[in-house]
Amino acid sequence: MSHASSAGRIEILAKEVEIKLRDRFAEIDEVSTVNTRRVMSAFHEFAVSAACFSGSSGYGYDDKGRDTFEKIFARVFGTQSALVRLGLVNGTHAITTALFAATAPGTTLLSVTGAPYDTIRSAIGTQGDYPGSLIYYGTKYAQLALTDEGLPDFPAIEKAAGDENVSCVFIQRSRGYCDRPALSVAQIGQMVESVRRINPKANILVDNCYGEFTEVLEPTHVGADLVAGSLIKNPGGGLAPTGGYVAGRKDLVDKAAYRLTSPGIGGECGSYEGGYRSLYQGFFTAPHVTAQALKTAVFSAALFGELGFKTAPGVDDPRSDIIQIIELGSPERLRRFCRGIQKGTPVDSFATPEPWPMPGYDCDVIMAAGSFVQGASIELSADGPMKEPYRAYLQGGITYESGKIGIMMAAHEMMD
Ligand SMILES: *Cc1c(COP(=O)(O)O)cnc(C)c1O
Repeated sequence: MSHASSAGRIEILAKEVEIKLRDRFAEIDEVSTVNTRRVMSAFHEFAVSAACFSGSSGYGYDDKGRDTFEKIFARVFGTQSALVRLGLVNGTHAITTALFAATAPGTTLLSVTGAPYDTIRSAIGTQGDYPGSLIYYGTKYAQLALTDEGLPDFPAIEKAAGDENVSCVFIQRSRGYCDRPALSVAQIGQMVESVRRINPKANILVDNCYGEFTEVLEPTHVGADLVAGSLIKNPGGGLAPTGGYVAGRKDLVDKAAYRLTSPGIGGECGSYEGGYRSLYQGFFTAPHVTAQALKTAVFSAALFGELGFKTAPGVDDPRSDIIQIIELGSPERLRRFCRGIQKGTPVDSFATPEPWPMPGYDCDVIMAAGSFVQGASIELSADGPMKEPYRAYLQGGITYESGKIGIMMAAHEMMD
């Protein structure tokens, strides 16, 4: 097909697809409205003013901007407390900190959603052999697979969680790099209920990465004790420069703070001279920005569906994370797809993504990303392992318009 006619065909298809997506987009906007209202009322309750945006230096005692932001974060997540820090270097660090807080020494950590995200395996100690992992410090680890459909295996959960040595039950909300659906908040609520029934003392921790604000409730609204995630994903709204969070029961958040800094000091210290405006502004826009990423994902599912590719989730499937899988079926198409996404990013659009042997993966991985905040995957990005069935994992898009244009460029690149 000639260059011009393929571009024309994609334009027409995109317009048709958008008309069909009107109701779906309206639903996404409604979720964003509910979440925006919750964020705004927390801003009002804690009387956010320009004084909150100033930073502090040195020890950072009584840092008003930091402390107020953590109160707002806790209110929005429906928790007693929150630790939201630029010193939590990424999502992995936040989740690791939460794992140490929620797992008592010498007891068992039980994952009920199969193998955790790659980097979390290293932190637990089941991948690599790093000193300082949970297993290194004497934690025992057990893991339950999801069912073949990717759903929680309730009978198995009740059996395994019934072991009185289990002090922490771990749930991963998002699909990560697995071929299974994200768990909805309602499903997480059922899992919490089932664990509580059999082991009321176990702490329930949810890896909330990519899930925040995709629904009107968070796992902590349905009984999870602790959630953790990254500020360069959904809750940073594309503006937070770095950072992570742990939110939940106060005793557990305190333990997480003791792990992050030092026992006895916890969250009282930690300064940042640069100021906190980007965190506040990012959190304020996060429900909207998450909706933009969701619309971009739904649009890509619809467009690539029309072009004959298998997608997961499908256009009408419920969503509880911002990840979209597009099955491209050949190495050449996966390369072209990533090349097109790269051309559709605002930064580094001139780069050509090439597969490379990324540590921790059993095959080469190709990635497309061109973000304002380095590595931020709330901004449009895609990656895929160079193996059958050549799936692209797509996420982000801080404005729907730019996300849509990026997806159309990927489609164009593939048809050319
Ligand atoms: C992104 C992610 C993490 C943590 O990743 P970082 O790159 O360290 O922020 C953990 N779990 C899941 C499911 C994720 O998507």
